[in-house]
Amino acid sequence: FRRIAQPKESKDELNQMAETFNEMIDLLEVNYEKQGQFVSNASHELNTPLTVIESYASLLKRRGHEDPELFAESVQAIHSEALRMKGLIEQLLNLARNDKPLRIEMEEVALADVVAEMVRTIEKSYQRKIELEVEGEVTVQTDLQKFKQLFYIFLDNARKYSEETIKVRIMTLQHEVVVEIIDYGIGIPALELEKVFDRFYRVDKARTRKTGGFGLGLSLATDIAEAMGAKISLESVEGLGTTVKIILPPALSH
Ligand code: ADP
Repeated sequence: FRRIAQPKESKDELNQMAETFNEMIDLLEVNYEKQGQFVSNASHELNTPLTVIESYASLLKRRGHEDPELFAESVQAIHSEALRMKGLIEQLLNLARNDKPLRIEMEEVALADVVAEMVRTIEKSYQRKIELEVEGEVTVQTDLQKFKQLFYIFLDNARKYSEETIKVRIMTLQHEVVVEIIDYGIGIPALELEKVFDRFYRVDKARTRKTGGFGLGLSLATDIAEAMGAKISLESVEGLGTTVKIILPPALSH
């Protein structure tokens, strides 16, 4: 992008306008770069499973009919890589939807009941104990579907990056309602705490490879929270565990 020349000594309006234009160009450049980075990351992530699929398919074509073991292994690999691609495409679509302004539908929600029900369902599918602690009856004004999406992202991370019981707490503070998701897992190193919200960022790919994520969950969560007027806080100590807080705006008084 071309910038507009700004004579240093002049302080007139034209010069101020040039300054504003140049600031806008700086912003545009950052976005442009980020988008390029996003496309290249996404292509890379899609290309990896595709390469595996391609090589197994070609193996099958050459030797599949004469080697039943190779046949079984190849079909298994192709199936699991195809599922991985499907998962990524789903997440990319979710992100793309969030690039447009999100439609938010606020309603009064009995949060404790909603969370209790989600915890019960998730507990069954994860086969993991989740402790739930609720202080009193909690009603909030929120977008129910978006809240569920947020809660699920954090709970799923707690499951992926820890092995013990996960704790969920709901607290009503004076001006807000806080939903905490606490795990006692591998934690996040202090220097990485800010970066984990970037698209495609994963702490130490080797450490987290077996969990099979793409580094998109937290960036998606940031977009959702912003749209629905919630805040997210993430505290973590490497080796000890992570606490995520979803902070909801105060409920309208009755
Ligand atoms: P994904 O989990 O799919 O990789 P996320 O965007 O949800 O993507 O998270 C980004 C990275 O942050 C993860 O790869 C992981 O390294 C780290 N992380 C997120 N949540 C936790 C957690 N509860 N405990 C430890 N590390 C976490």
